[in-house]
Amino acid sequence: MSILQLHSSISVCPKCSLHKTRIKPVLPEGNPGSGIMMIAQSPGKVENQTGRMFTGPSGKIFNELLKHAGISRNDFYLTNLIKCMLIKSRDPSREQWYACTPWLIKEIEQIKPKVIVPLGFQATKFVLTYLGIPRPPGKSYRKLFGNFIKTEKYVILPLRHPTALLFNPDKRKVMEENYKKLKELML
Ligand code: SF4
Repeated sequence: MSILQLHSSISVCPKCSLHKTRIKPVLPEGNPGSGIMMIAQSPGKVENQTGRMFTGPSGKIFNELLKHAGISRNDFYLTNLIKCMLIKSRDPSREQWYACTPWLIKEIEQIKPKVIVPLGFQATKFVLTYLGIPRPPGKSYRKLFGNFIKTEKYVILPLRHPTALLFNPDKRKVMEENYKKLKELML
């Protein structure tokens, strides 16, 4: 299955109840040949209406962070852990997680990234679990943000999700510094 066929299947997926509130499918975007895959959590209300990733308030922050880091959306492949909007932005349920993450696994198999950048707690948890990397002590995934993890096959750079700045504006400086590390991965 090509990446376009995969996207087409995702756009009509009925595998969990979240398809009932899907207005426009929010498909992955960017450059599948870049070797870098960035994984956000899920579309929000605005994205569900526009059908494009990061077009709501967190998208504005995302664009600012990328600009500050000197990179553009075409420098990587951008996708979501959960492909349809999570109601009231809740964390995904167990059922939603197990229904939707096989799509992401198919994307990883198809894209074969060298670098994986999970944004936020849930995407970081997925990437570490999928790659069999032991959980940090106390399951404190947040401590991993901004730090490179190197395995035989991948470089992983977990970053805070842009949404974090909506609630904790004081984190801007540290997030700007961490997002700048993306540039190192492109040199
Ligand atoms: S969230 Fe994922 S599994 Fe659920 S309907 Fe959407 S694409 Fe399918």
